[in-house]
Amino acid sequence: MEKIDLLKKQLAIPQKIVLIPHRNPDGDAVGSTLAMYHFLKSQQHQVTVVAPNKFPSFLAWMPGAETICFFDSETKKAKRKITEATLVFLLDFNALHRTGNDMQFFLEKYKGTFVMIDHHQQPDAIAAFTYSDTSICSTCQMVYHFIEKLEKVNLINKEIATCLYTGIMTDTGSFRFPSTTSTTHRIIADLIDKGANNARIHNNVYDTNSYSSLQLLGCALQNMKVVESFKTAYITLSIEELERYKYKKGDTEGIVNYALSLKGIIFAAIFIEDADQKIIKLSLRSKGTFSVNEFARAHFEGGGHTNAAGGKSQLSLAKTVENFLNLLPQYKQQLLLSYEI
Ligand code: 5GP
Ligand code: MN
Repeated sequence: MEKIDLLKKQLAIPQKIVLIPHRNPDGDAVGSTLAMYHFLKSQQHQVTVVAPNKFPSFLAWMPGAETICFFDSETKKAKRKITEATLVFLLDFNALHRTGNDMQFFLEKYKGTFVMIDHHQQPDAIAAFTYSDTSICSTCQMVYHFIEKLEKVNLINKEIATCLYTGIMTDTGSFRFPSTTSTTHRIIADLIDKGANNARIHNNVYDTNSYSSLQLLGCALQNMKVVESFKTAYITLSIEELERYKYKKGDTEGIVNYALSLKGIIFAAIFIEDADQKIIKLSLRSKGTFSVNEFARAHFEGGGHTNAAGGKSQLSLAKTVENFLNLLPQYKQQLLLSYEI
């Protein structure tokens, strides 16, 4: 990050700090904000995490999660904290609209200093301090590097190590995506040395399914369709199906990866009907060079990374799927050449 020395100077004096993850925060967003929360608090700053909305229950065990203020349900307190803050950290997202409409409009009026730490492509130039690196697997790994740059790695305690381990684990698919490097593994080793209980963290995140969430997974797998000629597979979940299996936030996380696990498939999509926002939410995954970030940006008002992105559609579930299928022929060459299997 340029200007790190300026920020270092500012952080040498106690500040009022607000830490913000993106809407519908995942393990990396919650992990990076809570790790920064513990780190900055240990240095006499006043710190609050303000999340746009609730996180899934498989992250509720994380140290500090109980202190998070939610913009959608505690709006008055959240607005006061942001207004009073001298520094606002934006973690794991690249544009203010990723916090949702209401919070975006409020943040656009913020007069203090923004700090952005993020690994998504094409970050908006909105922060006085931007640390952006799209080659790094997770924002949590970037927070570790940020603490390194401040020469404070010795302050990483069990709480911070646990939060950072969780975000690196979830964003790398448990250390298996190509973004996982030897540096990632060295950092992970250090986090275990500093107190992260690796086996327990995996259990807390991945082995706390409810009966109905596994039934929902079964329904999704039944709905899966394969378009072999484009090395593509996709899944749909309608409101009726989500209600039948008592859908709760987080239950659909990771389902799209089952479609990508089919032999020979390099492009996977899941279409989920969202009753609250009245949209179809898309999650896209790919293997190799085919960029789902570009695909989501071009056709579904979204974005993300080369191999993992999201987007949305205002049309019906059936119409959205139809449009998706109609787009595939123009990408045929890219899809067939993306990954040598
Ligand atoms: P997921 O499919 O797990 O929701 O998201 C995959 C990746 O794409 C994440 O890094 C997430 O932040 C990003 N992403 C998901 N939905 C959107 C979206 O609507 N817009 C943008 N710009 N990025 C998204
Ligand atoms: Mn991330």
